[in-house]
Amino acid sequence: MIPGTFIVLLLITIAIVILVFYKKPAKQIDLPPHYKELLMENVAFYRSINDEEKIRFEKKMKEFLGYVRIHGVNTGVEDLDKILVASSAVIPIFAFPEWKYYNLRDVLLYPHTFDKDEFLSGNNAPDTLGMIGNGAMQRVMILSKPALHFGFKNDWARENTGIHEFVHLLDKEDGAVDGIPEALLHRKFMIPWLELMNKNIEAINAGSSDINIYGATNKAEFFAVASEYFFERPDLFKEKHEELYNLMTRIFHQQPPVPLFKQPDH
Ligand SMILES: [Zn+2]
Repeated sequence: MIPGTFIVLLLITIAIVILVFYKKPAKQIDLPPHYKELLMENVAFYRSINDEEKIRFEKKMKEFLGYVRIHGVNTGVEDLDKILVASSAVIPIFAFPEWKYYNLRDVLLYPHTFDKDEFLSGNNAPDTLGMIGNGAMQRVMILSKPALHFGFKNDWARENTGIHEFVHLLDKEDGAVDGIPEALLHRKFMIPWLELMNKNIEAINAGSSDINIYGATNKAEFFAVASEYFFERPDLFKEKHEELYNLMTRIFHQQPPVPLFKQPDH
C-alpha cells in the first residue's frame, strides 16, 4: 500500500470513529422570555431561595426543557406552562447535582381532567389530574393543565399535581412505584420509612391527620401526597409531622425553603 492511500484510509477511519462515538451534547434551549418574572410571580419555591440558588434552579430548568418535550393535547403550550412543568420537575431533585429524569421523554398537557381509562384498562377515573405512563406510554407524563396551574396558584395550599407526578417518577427510578424510593434513601432508613408510612396512612384513615385522604390509597400515593405537602408548606409539615419531615429531608437531601408568600392583591 502506498503511504498516501494509507494516510487517507487512516483519516477516514478516524473520521468514522469520531462520528460513531461522538456524544451529542444535550440540546441547548433558551428559557422563555421574562422567565424570571414568571418564576417570581408563580413559583413560591423559586421566590424563596437565594440568588445563587436561583441561578442553579434556572440551569436545571434549562437542562430539563432540553431533553423533555411538552405537548398540548387540544390546548396550547404557553411559556408559563413550560415554566410550571419544569419547576415541578426541578423542585424535588433540586439537591441532586447530576439528576436527569431518564424515565421521562414527553409531557402531555390536557385542557381539563382526563379519563385515565383512555390510557389504562380497568381503571375508570374520569377525574384524573395527572399520571405517569406505563407500557406503551412509558416515559410519558400526562397532566391536566388546570391542575398544574392550581398547584402553584395558592401559596397556602398543600397540593401540587406537578410535584406529585414527578415524585412518582423518582419513586419509579428503582423500577417500582411503591412509595419506597430506594434510589434516594439509604437502606438503614427503609424500615423506619415503611413504619412511618403505615402509621400515617392509619392516621389518615382514622380521620386524625391533615394529610390529604388520597394519600391513604397506598404507599406510592402516600409518598407523593406527603411530598406535595413537604415542598408546598415545609414549615407547617415540620410542625405537624416532624418525624416524616426529618426522614423526607433525607430522601430529598434538602430542607425546602419556607415559602415567601406574595402579598395579596388589593
Ligand atoms: Zn399519584
